[in-house]
Order: sequence, then C-alpha cells, then structure tokens
Amino acid sequence: MSDNPETVEAVHASGDAPVLRMESVRKTFGGSVVLRDVDLEVAPHTVTALIGASGSGKSTLLRCANLLEDIDDGAIWLDGEEITDPRVDQDAVRRRIGVVFQSYNLFPHMTVLDNITLAPRRVHGVPRAEAEERARALLDRLGLSGKAGAYPDRLSGGQQQRVAIVRALAVRPRLLLLDEITAALDPELVGEVLNVVRDLKADGMTMVLATHEMGFARDVADQVCFLDGGVVLERGTAEQVFGDPRQERTRQFLRRIV
Ligand code: ADP
Ligand code: MG
Repeated sequence: MSDNPETVEAVHASGDAPVLRMESVRKTFGGSVVLRDVDLEVAPHTVTALIGASGSGKSTLLRCANLLEDIDDGAIWLDGEEITDPRVDQDAVRRRIGVVFQSYNLFPHMTVLDNITLAPRRVHGVPRAEAEERARALLDRLGLSGKAGAYPDRLSGGQQQRVAIVRALAVRPRLLLLDEITAALDPELVGEVLNVVRDLKADGMTMVLATHEMGFARDVADQVCFLDGGVVLERGTAEQVFGDPRQERTRQFLRRIV
C-alpha cells in the first residue's frame, strides 16, 4: 500500500484473485425472495455495474456485500476471506469496504473536514494531523480544496456527494460500493460526480455500483450485471450487455430506459 496521501490508489492484493466473490447468495425479506442464487466475481481494479429496474435487488446485493444484511444462504468472500462465516468480525470487514449511498448522509453539524476524518480517527485510530492531511489531499484531488471548513448545507448536492466519496475513501477501503450516487442530484451536477468515479477507476479502485446512468455504465464498467427479480439474468462486458443483450428481458429493460 502506498503511504503517499495524495494517492487514492487501492490496496493491491497479490495476483488477480477476486476482491469480492458471492456464491449462490439468497436473501429473503419476510418470506419473499429478494436475491436468488446470486453469483458475482469482482476482479481487482475493475468496475462492476449493477443495472435493473427499481426493486430488482441492486441495493440489497450491495448491502449484503457490506454485511449490512444477513444472507439466508450462500457465501461471500472479500479478498479470499469468507466474510459470511459467523466467526468473522463484521465491523472489521465493514472497515475494509467504503459505501456511498444516494443520499449523502453527511453529518450536518460537522465541517467537511470533520465529516471525513471522523472514521479514520475514531475507528481506525489514525492521529488527527495525519487524518486531516490525508483528507485535505483527497479534497484537493476531488476539486474541493476550499471546502474543508464548510458545513454541508453550504455545498451543492454534487459537492456534498463528492465529500461523501472522500469520506468513504478516507479509510483506504479495499472495495467501494456506490448505490445510485447520482440519483438525487440535479442533472447538471451528475457529471461532476461521475467524473470522480472515472478518476477512481483510473487510480485502480475496485468498485461495484448500482446505477440508472446507462451511458455511464457502458462507458466505465468492465462488467455489467442485469438484475431482474433478484436474479442476475445476464452478465458480460459493457459492450456485450448493452450492444448485444442475449436475454429478451434485458433488451426490454434497455429499450425502456435508454
Ligand atoms: P433496487 O435497489 O434494485 O431498487 P432493492 O434491493 O432496494 O432493489 O429491493 C429489492 C426488493 O427487496 C424490493 O422488492 C424491496 O421492496 C425489497 N426490500 C428491500 N429492502 C427490504 C427490507 N428491509 N424489508 C423488506 N423488503 C425489502
Ligand atoms: Mg436501490
């Protein structure tokens, strides 16, 4: 791992072993099956886009990957460690995964800098000076240099969402999960947030993102998974899934949305 605070480079694992692997994951809520037999492999330094209609299970899949939901069956591995093993320290696992949601969830009573340094300091034990230095370097990189002392309500939605991304990166996660991070933004602010994701990809960050931005998914994703009723109905490269979908359901979905 690089110690240079100006890089957001992901921690490099040895070889090409998947960062995240799901096998036959099943998730139910009160008897209804929300994820059925989901397999997923996410290679290091790649972007996986989850697409599919509202209610198809994208958020649930991300929440299971981060152990925010218990799964009913199957197993999940992070860097080769089975994280669904009941003996695993779930908090320790979550500390290795960054998550950004649709709503930025910044703490309104804290400055941008405090929002970002809270977890590194409190959870990871990083000294304040070092946490702040890292935070400022990340803010610079994401075009937010002047905002360290600002309160969230003084920022645009796009700026708030970029701060939320900085906050997720501040703990140097192994994997970044992004759940429709542009869905709540005014259209003119979507681009700046998507550009951050492109930059992170260029830095080698491994990401799984749920998105309705099909042009973006096509552009940035190495792997696209189309979810339909809790099943990964189709997966492939962006070129294959968008350019030549095999399943009629995928075609229907893409016709509706694009
Ligand atoms: P998506 O993110 O693709 O819109 P979700 O993963 O949010 O889909 O939801 C998948 C299905 O699971 C939906 O039918 C939704 O109503 C259901 N669901 C999600 N979370 C819960 C929950 N906490 N309790 C009950 N049902 C849920
Ligand atoms: Mg969702």
